Amino acid sequence: MTPYETPRIMPLMKKRMLTGDRPTGPLHLGHWVGSLKNRVLLQDRYETFILIADVQALTDHFEHPEILRQNIREVVADYLAVGIDPEKSTIFIQSLIPEIAELALYYLNLVTLARLHRNPTVKDEIQQKGLQEKVTAGFLTYPVHQAADITAFLGEIVPVGKDQLPMIEQTVEIVRDFNRLYGEVLVTPKALVGEEARLVGIDGQAKMSKTLNNGIYLSDNADTVKKKVMRMYTDPKRIHPTDPGTVIGNPVFIYHDLFNTNREEVEDLKARYGKGTVGDVEVKQKLVKALNLFLDPIREKRTRIMEDEKQIDKILSDGTARARVVAAETMRKVKKAMRIDYELA
Ligand code: ATP
Ligand code: MG
Repeated sequence: MTPYETPRIMPLMKKRMLTGDRPTGPLHLGHWVGSLKNRVLLQDRYETFILIADVQALTDHFEHPEILRQNIREVVADYLAVGIDPEKSTIFIQSLIPEIAELALYYLNLVTLARLHRNPTVKDEIQQKGLQEKVTAGFLTYPVHQAADITAFLGEIVPVGKDQLPMIEQTVEIVRDFNRLYGEVLVTPKALVGEEARLVGIDGQAKMSKTLNNGIYLSDNADTVKKKVMRMYTDPKRIHPTDPGTVIGNPVFIYHDLFNTNREEVEDLKARYGKGTVGDVEVKQKLVKALNLFLDPIREKRTRIMEDEKQIDKILSDGTARARVVAAETMRKVKKAMRIDYELA
């Protein structure tokens, strides 16, 4: 090399980040603190894949597939409104990548029924949805499908809420067993839990969720936010504003801590709440203000995005095409490792 030649620097391969959401409704504050915020922060550093999990959503919505169809664009609009950039992140629809379903079928051999029954999140959801005897094979095996989602893209990092940790654990086991049996093809993923692993619902339930209908949505208007906050669950033992109240674990203060940027105000409210010198109404009114301040720019951007459905569809079709290439490449490696890469004359 002469001194005048610029050295050729090999581009560093970025690690992959894979994550997704079920199109069972628009996204809420729990999605933001549990996963979306990390995705936005990390999309520059990782090659990012975001899947809209319609196949997974069908496992408990198979009687109402139209709900999923209605929500796909809503979810994309939420992504773009919070700052996910389709130039940096590949956004795609799960059912349009048949390789994922194919992979899941092979993985099913690596998982026992007993193991599936032990999954704590699946157990909770069976309980919550009253499925018990009615639980389908599709629902029980959705963690295996999720392992296929992650590994089809050789995802190394998976930003998720706490309820998803058992799914990542299950994926790690599948990767370990696959690689041991067939050769080192799959990548072991790691969960990245957001600043609030499991945001409590407005009703005080352990998890804000679309199914429980206890969420504040990124698309809720200012008035809806006000109505929801004003009827939020707080300290049930507190009857009068002069009663000393409990701050720790109180949903209203959990939200203040996460969304109110005026730290002084939050500390003052907490101190007065503990002493019984502030009413729930004032604490809630200040939360309404803080939440609307946080949501205003998101809502504004979201409204503009929803006006251009064609653009949303283009993002999805471009993303799906890109994702398909990556998944097909993994599938090729998987089949080769499993010796089922037949080349018939
Ligand atoms: P559904 O009720 O249909 O299951 P959901 O509200 O649980 O909907 P999902 O689409 O299942 O939302 O979850 C998408 C991602 O958001 C997952 O990584 C999940 O862990 C995370 N998440 C969902 N709700 C919360 C929450 N309340 N706190 C933190 N993370 C959350
Ligand atoms: Mg869920």
